Amino acid sequence: LSEKSIEESSCIFCRIVSGQIPADRVHDDGEIIAIKDVNPQAPTHLLVIPHRHIKGVGDLDDQALMGKLFMVAARQGGLLEKGFRLVVNNGNEGGQTVDHLHVHVLGGRQLTWPPG
Ligand code: 5GP
Ligand code: ZN
Repeated sequence: LSEKSIEESSCIFCRIVSGQIPADRVHDDGEIIAIKDVNPQAPTHLLVIPHRHIKGVGDLDDQALMGKLFMVAARQGGLLEKGFRLVVNNGNEGGQTVDHLHVHVLGGRQLTWPPG
């Protein structure tokens, strides 16, 4: 196995994309999935995840994919009218806990600012 595929076989989001770990999938277009977060921080808390293993937003090499991630994210959960928040945590101080790029979609309640 290459270094890359070892990383991917132990990556929780790669395993969700491939179906090895179950998740509540609300979207899958073959390139991007959206799932319900297992530990929701708002009435709607979804994760929008590319099939491809990209570690984080700092490792992104595909502008079209990032654009599509945000477009898919904004359309999840029927939140366009009331409002919602998209979040990308990156690295240790950014609060990233899963090293596979993902966009959080948070909504369904009044969100506060600044976040913690
Ligand atoms: P991060 O902290 O990296 O920005 O976000 C990771 C998110 O993934 C967290 O909100 C966490 O609750 C969620 N998460 C971690 N493991 C799983 C899992 O196995 N299934 C689902 N659906 N969400 C997960
Ligand atoms: Zn991965």
